[in-house]
Amino acid sequence: MTRQFLTRLALLPLLVLVFLGIVHAQDEASPPALPNVIDARITVAPDRARLVIDLAARTEFSFVSLDEPDRLAVDLRAGTFSVPEAEGNPAEAELVSSYAIEQAAADRVRTTLTLSAPAQVQQAYVLDPFDGQPARLVVDIIPATAEEFAANVERDRAASAGAPAVSTPAGGSELPIATKPLVVIDPGHGGIDSGAETAEGVREKDIVLAFSLRLQELLVESGRFDVALTRQTDTYLRLEERVALARANKADLFISIHADSFQQPEIRGASVYTRDENATDVLDKVLADTENRSDVIAGFTMPPMAPEVVDILLDLMRREMRVQSFMAAQSIVHQLEPSVALRRFPVRQADFFVLQAPDVPSVLVELGFLSNASDIANLMQSDWRDRTAEAIARGISTYFDSLQEEP
Ligand code: ZN
Repeated sequence: MTRQFLTRLALLPLLVLVFLGIVHAQDEASPPALPNVIDARITVAPDRARLVIDLAARTEFSFVSLDEPDRLAVDLRAGTFSVPEAEGNPAEAELVSSYAIEQAAADRVRTTLTLSAPAQVQQAYVLDPFDGQPARLVVDIIPATAEEFAANVERDRAASAGAPAVSTPAGGSELPIATKPLVVIDPGHGGIDSGAETAEGVREKDIVLAFSLRLQELLVESGRFDVALTRQTDTYLRLEERVALARANKADLFISIHADSFQQPEIRGASVYTRDENATDVLDKVLADTENRSDVIAGFTMPPMAPEVVDILLDLMRREMRVQSFMAAQSIVHQLEPSVALRRFPVRQADFFVLQAPDVPSVLVELGFLSNASDIANLMQSDWRDRTAEAIARGISTYFDSLQEEP
């Protein structure tokens, strides 16, 4: 378990190399102007912290672990910084007790996090500017053991003593790969069931299929997952068949993709649902009811609802899946949050029939609503779709990381 997790961390330098590659490629075209650091902020939760640094433009970054006292430093290739509050103390310091920003060299701005417990970078990525927001670096930090932290300090010390600053990724990727988790992506609707539709003829079934294919591509590229789709083409599948496919293949995660419409056109933004047959939000209930009727729309009668659960083992399994589904929804929303507009309270519960597998963690992603003009504009934009698919792919990855971290 820990092994796989460490392997993932070992890939981080590779990510940095990829970013360096991108930036260098751009440099050849035009002489580099070092971007400025505009703002920085940190949020903390009991078992994680997130540092977000706003940038005038995309740039390179790297990390270094330091001890006495324990610190994590994030270096950015940047000209200056104009952070209103260059120092801060997160409210409930669990991992990070304070942070400070300094001009470490003419071309380098360093943000130093003072740690209250050993920690490590779980993942980091740069987002391009969007929706009038600047480019930004997002760094997620999670607890490490004292040994892991000491090893990172040692590695970084050796690197600064003359060895290459980033290690080659050779070792990490050549470890034998265990059976990969299977993710089943379910593009909603299809065939005679178009799903939601705009006045201009944009159909939910087409949008979610294209999106699902992109998400599949990203997950497969990560090398961590086997990915299956319930439908690859414009075909109709009953809800029951979608669930059955995930169960028969013992999927580790089922993710249904939708872009429905709401009666209230002002409601917008992405959200992630898990199943709760007792959920009380009226609008969500209408949404789920409409969705659950898609079989009827397509000429099939509703399959009989699952009988009252009497089997206590099945009940326990269901509860466990519910917890895992919720964790998955949270991980996905956590990654969507800095990237796209979310609905208020984006982790939601409703009684979606397609989420009923008792043995497969299942979530339903509403990318946005075809009843809202801003959401339609987003859904039609390839930039937005890429960014959202990337965020969901990261969310799926961090969800599986969190399963591995469990003792
Ligand atoms: Zn739908």
